[in-house]
Amino acid sequence: MAASAHATSTTDDDADYVAYYNDCMQNPNAFWDQQARQRLQWRQLYDKVADHNLAEGQIRWFTNGKLNVAENCIDRHVESGRGDATALIYEADEPGTTQHITYKELQEQVNRLANVLLQQGVKQGDRVCLYLPMTPYAVYAMLACARIGAIHTLVFAGFSEDALAARISDGDCRVLITADESVRGGKKIPLRQIANDALAQIPGQVRAVLVQERTGKTPPQAYDIKLYEAMAAASPVAESATVDAEDGLFLLYTSGSTGAPKGLLHTSGGYLLYAGYTHEHFFDYKPGDIYACLADVGWITGHTYVVYGPLVNGATTVIFESVPTYPDASRYWEMVERLRINQLYTAPTALRLLMKQGDDFVQKHDRSSLRVLGSVGEPINPEVWRWFHDVVGNKQCRIADTWWQTETGGIMMCPSPLASKEGHKPGAAMHPAVGVVPLLLGTDGQEIKGNDVEGLLCLRDPTPGMARTVFGNHKRFCETYWSHFPGYYFTGDGAKRDSEGHYHITGRVDDVINVSGHRLGTAEVESSLLLHKGVAESAVVGYPHDVKGEGICAYVILRADFEPTGNTAKELKEVVRHHIGAFASPDRVQLVKDLPKTRSGKIMRRILRKIASNQLNELGDLSTLAEPKVVDEIIEGHKEFL
Ligand code: ATP
Ligand code: MG
Repeated sequence: MAASAHATSTTDDDADYVAYYNDCMQNPNAFWDQQARQRLQWRQLYDKVADHNLAEGQIRWFTNGKLNVAENCIDRHVESGRGDATALIYEADEPGTTQHITYKELQEQVNRLANVLLQQGVKQGDRVCLYLPMTPYAVYAMLACARIGAIHTLVFAGFSEDALAARISDGDCRVLITADESVRGGKKIPLRQIANDALAQIPGQVRAVLVQERTGKTPPQAYDIKLYEAMAAASPVAESATVDAEDGLFLLYTSGSTGAPKGLLHTSGGYLLYAGYTHEHFFDYKPGDIYACLADVGWITGHTYVVYGPLVNGATTVIFESVPTYPDASRYWEMVERLRINQLYTAPTALRLLMKQGDDFVQKHDRSSLRVLGSVGEPINPEVWRWFHDVVGNKQCRIADTWWQTETGGIMMCPSPLASKEGHKPGAAMHPAVGVVPLLLGTDGQEIKGNDVEGLLCLRDPTPGMARTVFGNHKRFCETYWSHFPGYYFTGDGAKRDSEGHYHITGRVDDVINVSGHRLGTAEVESSLLLHKGVAESAVVGYPHDVKGEGICAYVILRADFEPTGNTAKELKEVVRHHIGAFASPDRVQLVKDLPKTRSGKIMRRILRKIASNQLNELGDLSTLAEPKVVDEIIEGHKEFL
């Protein structure tokens, strides 16, 4: 059974894909068994493919299988003669500064760092906190932990000292790896200093701090261990620990869009398999491709599709340290041309930002190497999808609109090769992956069958890459995901199944607005607002309304080159009325300079909902908010409606 799928429009291949998919779905466990034997190197083969007990929120794959994740991501490729192939291309913040790192070099650096961790007394199963910029050292650190069987927990290097302290103590980390400073878009962030403030909040928690000298500008603390020096002094040869398929690989917190972030534990065998399978399958990855996922390693997308998926497949993966607008809005496309990138994976928030800068930035660069363009993180608005497809991809690339979550570990839905025949639907993730069985449920827990329906998105069978628990709080894991609808995993998202059976994610369940009996996804209203020429971005929420149940409030950022008039709000309401219907037309339009977003760039509608509802004392957990002052400005503007 061929593992890779190829975007194509010929009928034979479509028939092949249908046969392949149906064959896999006949018996998903047999499919995963075969994939696990083929894709991973086991030190001891598992005795059972799957062993779940969903009532207890217990998921187990490949029981008693033993392996080492670093060995699978590095040594295997070196031993099979691919040691000189490029593993990482480091695209530093400073434009045009790149470094190619081969699998052999990766192996040596990972081994050195693994030995440094061992010298610091890190043992198998211990948690190590990584608060690092996007450089190869973040990858070395992740794989060094995997090498010795330690569990890494990355904290995005844009988080504050409070968020860092909370994550270090929640994970009970004894060792921290950080850097003196990070550099993004030419701006320096004093990571070591922030880490110091974090450690002051949790005295006695961390016994060793390893510091990468990214800029060399901040003098190290007396007790710091200089990472480069320690690695240079350590042996380039290291033993790999034997870990169980179900031993922890990493701990990672969700983005915090809906509330306090959840610290999810991912394990070794099933996760690695799912990362490798989905990376190859959904990005049509072929040996020799230059693959670029532009997410930060601080997010799940960076874990699975910058590091583990590509490396287990022996791919060349780009480590992008910068931001899409530095030095200007052509950074991505200049890099595509220079590195000859074949697959590019980014997020709607970046695309919305780039789209409003105009097409020239894109068109002046040669993008003919691109084959697949991926998006993840939020629903991609159809307007943005079309821009990605028509302008960036020059109508030549497949768009992989991938729906998944920190909890699922890897892509759950994405248009399959069949979409080229059935017709792509901008903004729809369309098809479930192999082994994924989506269900739409009503709030009463009854399954909503048939097509042309909408409901709460649940998944029937656990997939190998799913998180196993909320670290230190299995009860929360069960309550959040497994007990709403016994036997099913509850995603927290809503979805529509259209008349042809294709899935459209409508957004978070909490974001659905109910106006006069109509259920409305916020994404739908936001997408229609984008059709107005003056709109750069918007966020829509519901608030209590005497007559309609809920009223609709739209927070709108206008394009810099658009001059608003006294009529603008009226025009915006009219656009929605025209494209969706009068019932969806916003009751209030508030023009804003910025929107509250998580540090991963997602709109935090829950905060806007509280403001619109005038519940200003109940804004909830703000720890993952990127720019707190944005909230104050919006509260100020909200006064006009009181
Ligand atoms: P938290 O769980 O802490 O509230 P979060 O859900 O934003 O935060 P992530 O795991 O980073 O944390 O994001 C997963 C969510 O992102 C999904 O549940 C979904 O709401 C949204 N999402 C991701 N990809 C897509 C997509 N392609 N289309 C629509 N929504 C998406
Ligand atoms: Mg979530």
